[in-house]
Amino acid sequence: MPPTQSKDYYGILGVKKTATAEDIRKAFRKLARKFHPDVNPNDKKAEEKFKEISEANDILSDEKKRKIYDQLGFYSDQIDPAQAEAAARGGYGRGGHGGQQGVPFDFGGFDFSDFANQSGATGRQQPSGSGWGGFRDIFSGIFNQGEQAHREPKGGTDLEYKVQVDFWTAIRGGTAKLQIQRQEMCPMCKGKTSTGSSHTCPECHGSGQVTQMGGRMKFNIQCPQCVGTGKTQHACPTCHGEGTLPRMELVEFRIKAGTRDGQRIRLAGKGNAGVNSGPAGDLYLIIKSGTHPVFTRQGDDIHITVPVTVAEAALGAKIEVPTIDGRAQLKVPPGTQSGQKLRMRERGVPSSAHEGKRGDQIVTIEIMVPRVQDERSKEILREFAKLNPEDPRKAMWAKV
Ligand SMILES: [Zn+2]
Ligand SMILES: [Zn+2]
Repeated sequence: MPPTQSKDYYGILGVKKTATAEDIRKAFRKLARKFHPDVNPNDKKAEEKFKEISEANDILSDEKKRKIYDQLGFYSDQIDPAQAEAAARGGYGRGGHGGQQGVPFDFGGFDFSDFANQSGATGRQQPSGSGWGGFRDIFSGIFNQGEQAHREPKGGTDLEYKVQVDFWTAIRGGTAKLQIQRQEMCPMCKGKTSTGSSHTCPECHGSGQVTQMGGRMKFNIQCPQCVGTGKTQHACPTCHGEGTLPRMELVEFRIKAGTRDGQRIRLAGKGNAGVNSGPAGDLYLIIKSGTHPVFTRQGDDIHITVPVTVAEAALGAKIEVPTIDGRAQLKVPPGTQSGQKLRMRERGVPSSAHEGKRGDQIVTIEIMVPRVQDERSKEILREFAKLNPEDPRKAMWAKV
């Protein structure tokens, strides 16, 4: 029965066994930046490496977990620190040896087969009074990741794409197309990851059991590769056991009128395919709305700056301004100042969330000062100044 290796978490993070919590934190952060899936999209090796360093960090950054790992050479949530302590001392329920340091401890001869069969048939049943019941649980945590997980239905991951949509399409709605790459169910194995007949498991050579070392102890446990069956199946040659294949696809979708910049559109089931009949993920489209030279959109409101003459602003006027629906009348009240904002109710964008509602158009007034050339105009302005001698900076000076 070949032994399986326990993981060297210190080696994985590249730190010494004497590393401080700070050393471990730094080492993990450095590696995580390098292997993070966001930095390495579609890179299986980086993904595996990231999982590995995350697992190592999870154990070593936790004082209690690290202690158990140091004592046994492996970690499971189901281990009681006191058990680990006893096992590390070489005792573990063997009267007389407890407390003796450095005594070689070998349970290789212990027969777990009855126990394994029993719990295989009825789940978690434990032999009464043996005191060893916890060990299957201990190791099940470690080996649940192997091949076994590959045979269970696994949902496909979601996809996210940014879509540039022009200003008017976002406001009025329409359809758009986007080329995406998604994982599709492998047509050869129908997403089952394997094909053909089974053969002898290479991990346990058909025995269904492997040996795990835990500190100085040796345990016979169910083979994680074949889940104790002693047989495995060939990986599908088309998808190399992934169950899915990448494919380009042209997706056509509807954009609702009033769609905002940054809004997400969800296309259910259009993400990556699942394996072993697992459901497909969803496709999320993040809308990036285009800009317009005159209109600026903020949510459902439209902002626009409109120039007016001094006479229009001083005397008041009815002027025409552009809106997203075309020309509209705006009343400029007498005495309107430059920079003043006038609200045109419900002249903004129809809401995509609330039927029948729409935003406002907010007009910022910009007073255009005439560049007078002729003597007559200059004369009038001088006379106007004489008639209106008040200092516009008076209020400002009062505050200084
Ligand atoms: Zn396949
Ligand atoms: Zn096996």
